[in-house]
Amino acid sequence: MSQLEQTLKRYRTLRLNALSRDLVSLISEAEASEWSYLNFAERLASHELEQRHGSRVQRNLKQAGFPSEKHLEGFDYRHQTTISKRQVNALLDFRFLDERHNLILIGPPGVGKTHLAIGIGHKAVEAGYRVLFRNALTLVEELELAEKKGELKKRLKQLGQYDLLIIDELGYLPMTRQARYNLFQLINSLHEYRSIILTTNKDFTSWGEFFHEDDVAVPIIDRIIHHSQVFMMGGESYRLKQKLGS
Ligand code: ADP
Ligand code: MG
Repeated sequence: MSQLEQTLKRYRTLRLNALSRDLVSLISEAEASEWSYLNFAERLASHELEQRHGSRVQRNLKQAGFPSEKHLEGFDYRHQTTISKRQVNALLDFRFLDERHNLILIGPPGVGKTHLAIGIGHKAVEAGYRVLFRNALTLVEELELAEKKGELKKRLKQLGQYDLLIIDELGYLPMTRQARYNLFQLINSLHEYRSIILTTNKDFTSWGEFFHEDDVAVPIIDRIIHHSQVFMMGGESYRLKQKLGS
């Protein structure tokens, strides 16, 4: 075995996969640019780290389950004027995630709530956070299934592994009592532990009604609102406006 093959094999043993793949070109680069030994040593480490970060981001993007490709870059603040680019950009240092705070986007259909939630979620993944996107009804169905199998606790624990859970479209359709209770369990388990981005068409005054003034209504609302930033989004539906071509 040549020295190169031997070295590559050792890198693989150490699971330095990016290095074992790219060593030859890194050596050529070092020779061509006459790097110092220290510089070379540093480049090897940073190359492996960068590649690992990149593949982790790719993995986390897949896991996030975003329903469509929406990016903040494609968000038009001239159409949506009830939230500013500055307000959105201020979120992208992700202090709200580190502090376990929530975001609540409230507004009628078509004003860009889901687009923004995905856009922010996408940036969070790129910044190294773990994100999960779920439509509220899908999430509730998942919890119901887990509960029926006696695995609700386990599922809640799994959901707690994400830094950010995006719950889209809460309040559009009614939920059963058990569903509301499961949702409460989830929100309770994430409270001050993980962050939630919630999009909803209901403002807080109609939440009590949505939760049927249950025992869980007040605590759910209380836990979500506690440590949260609320954005009331208004304006016309973007879809409608596109359709009408104005
Ligand atoms: P909501 O979740 O508030 O019902 P969506 O985020 O699903 O609305 O927006 C509906 C459609 O219009 C999506 O395709 C979205 O990308 C687009 N859209 C909404 N608002 C904007 C905007 N301000 N700039 C660009 N696209 C927008
Ligand atoms: Mg939506």
